[in-house]
Amino acid sequence: MWRAPDHTRLVFDLSGPLEHRLFTLADPHRLVIDMERAKLAGALAETEADNPLIGAVRTGKPEGDVLRIVIDLKAEVKPRSFVLKPAGQYGHRLVVDLYDARQTPEDDAAKPATEPARPVSKPEAPAGPRMMVIAIDAGHGGEDPGALGRRYRTREKDVTLAVARELARLIDQTPNMKALLIRDGDYYVGLRSRFQKARKNRADVFISIHADAVPAKQARGSSVYALSERGASNAMARHLADRENAADLIGGVSLNDKDSVLARVLLDMSHSKTIEHSLLLGEDILGEIKRVGHVHQRRVQQAGFAVLKSPDIPSVLVETAFISNPDEERKLRTPAFQRSLAQGILAGVKRFVARQAPSAPPPRPATVEARVRPQEHVVQQGETLASIARQYNLHIEALRFLNSLSETEPPVGMRLRLPPEKGG
Ligand SMILES: [Zn+2]
Repeated sequence: MWRAPDHTRLVFDLSGPLEHRLFTLADPHRLVIDMERAKLAGALAETEADNPLIGAVRTGKPEGDVLRIVIDLKAEVKPRSFVLKPAGQYGHRLVVDLYDARQTPEDDAAKPATEPARPVSKPEAPAGPRMMVIAIDAGHGGEDPGALGRRYRTREKDVTLAVARELARLIDQTPNMKALLIRDGDYYVGLRSRFQKARKNRADVFISIHADAVPAKQARGSSVYALSERGASNAMARHLADRENAADLIGGVSLNDKDSVLARVLLDMSHSKTIEHSLLLGEDILGEIKRVGHVHQRRVQQAGFAVLKSPDIPSVLVETAFISNPDEERKLRTPAFQRSLAQGILAGVKRFVARQAPSAPPPRPATVEARVRPQEHVVQQGETLASIARQYNLHIEALRFLNSLSETEPPVGMRLRLPPEKGG
């Protein structure tokens, strides 16, 4: 059982697929979960007495081979449940989320008073420079412990939260910067919800913190990842499927009155710019954390991490060290090393900000333009559509679409229209 700011999550580990039914009863409020052809393999975990929603839990057998779990509730809830197929280290699971009935799922604005909603509630001085918001995402959480250390069974989710909190503390002491902790407790947040929370709070950069694990226990050092183009194009399909969200992604251009090909081109343009900035941010962080310890990969790596798929916020994933290396596992547990990592990451962010925006106030990095793209390009001998696209950091489809080109290469001397730069 895990308590998140706006809901409590119950996770049942199963030995196989399960059919279940869920319903609530009033006077007094109860939640009933009926599981078909199921039996308990052991006692249920103790519930936390201070949970605001959940009281006692009982089990029974209403009929045949149905296992019934009855949960006494302290308030009305909106339940939501789903089953998970085996993935990685986890087997079949039944997940039941209980939302406070006065809140709606994913409504970040409606939080209990105990949760400090930093960026949204901290009023900005109207005259001062805009605060730069750094979203810090502690990897894993709740029923997802992440990787486990060999020597001390250290859980990745605990280390990532410790480093994230330390980084947030340092950021909040830095002028013109404030931290947004994507999770601030031991609960799981969906990967998509993580960057959505960052976007909702107008974060300028997004940093996901993890600890690496591999079978070889000698592997050591930090790595930094940005999203790969391939990961981005998959994400693009998602964003486009969700028009509601897509409309505000590409500053000033509403997608609703555009056809989907143009919408895709515009989003691609903004996303490849974001990836370019993510790579720069990653380089800066890597350059600073190599002072802290070893570096596993000298260059910023690219992969299709779902949590990095924000189309408009430069995003990186930092693998701080190898939790699978007994030496680094021991270090990861110490506040001193956690602080050094946080200091290194913050120094990298500062370097990135300095190179993006030499003058205060810092603008949103995704809209900063280092150089102005010309309006057209005359095709030279030996150039291909792909090489021209690379030269201007465009998607090849953007060039094809704007110039009504088919699959063939453009002739030498042809004037190609280039798309306007985002944010002008
Ligand atoms: Zn991880």
